Amino acid sequence: MNDSEPDLSRYLDVVKSATRCAVLTGAGVSAESGMPTFRGKDGLWKEYRAEELATPEAFERNPDLVWEWYDYRRGIVEGVQPNAGHEALAQAEDLFEEFTLITQNVDGLHQQAGSRNVIELHGNIRRDRCHLCSRYREEGEGRECGCGGPFRPDVVWFGEALPAGAIEEAFRIVSTADLVFTAGTSSQVYPAAQLPYTAKEHGAFVVEVNPESTPFTPLADLSVRGPSGVWLPILLDPSGIGSRSDSG
Ligand code: NAD
Ligand code: ZN
Repeated sequence: MNDSEPDLSRYLDVVKSATRCAVLTGAGVSAESGMPTFRGKDGLWKEYRAEELATPEAFERNPDLVWEWYDYRRGIVEGVQPNAGHEALAQAEDLFEEFTLITQNVDGLHQQAGSRNVIELHGNIRRDRCHLCSRYREEGEGRECGCGGPFRPDVVWFGEALPAGAIEEAFRIVSTADLVFTAGTSSQVYPAAQLPYTAKEHGAFVVEVNPESTPFTPLADLSVRGPSGVWLPILLDPSGIGSRSDSG
């Protein structure tokens, strides 16, 4: 098998009989929409790396700087549209008995494309919440919560816990799935990076979609080296999966 033409024959057998499908997505699935990834060449903002800004310490030390970065990223989010990869994932909800999208992305593009069953592991950049009491900020409120805490983007920063229950639910889902995709993620940010390994341990067929190899690549049952906006529509093409062997 070479990089440009993956061997899809085993995959096509699996996808036709799979009933429980789960998909883990990362920043790469939004790259073709024009959202910069953290680790790609567009990952820097001014002279800062994401790891220097996306932390509670950075926010407590210099909230204005962190807000400036998020205002900049929100501006990007508002100007972009879901791409063919997001759309293929939204349509795939109807192709399997159970379909769950687990995303590390905070851009909300999956929901904008029509995905309904989405677990947001790292929050959503379009919302704010109080840094102290976690209450969501309502339209028209200022930068400070009634409790005295500052509002902040509702995203998970480095060193912070994931939203209660979200990662447990994600592990439960990949443990019972028969087909799992990991798309556009560098497989470096834990605990989300563990999910494809857990899926494999429990017997799922795991497909990786990424133009680059990742630490998970050697374990993938199928590794497709290419952009998710091109490959997800092919892999999840309803006319291929639509000929599913419902008769047996
Ligand atoms: P990452 O930046 O670490 O890795 C991105 C991966 O996407 C890389 O492996 C890269 O090879 C791959 N990629 C690049 N272009 C691609 C394409 N067209 N199709 C498929 N894959 C492509 O991102 P991560 O693994 O999601 O982890 C970084 C953290 O950064 C996450 O926790 C996330 O919350 C946050 N983040 C989110 C966004 C977003 O919401 N759009 C953007 C940047 C970072
Ligand atoms: Zn508060």
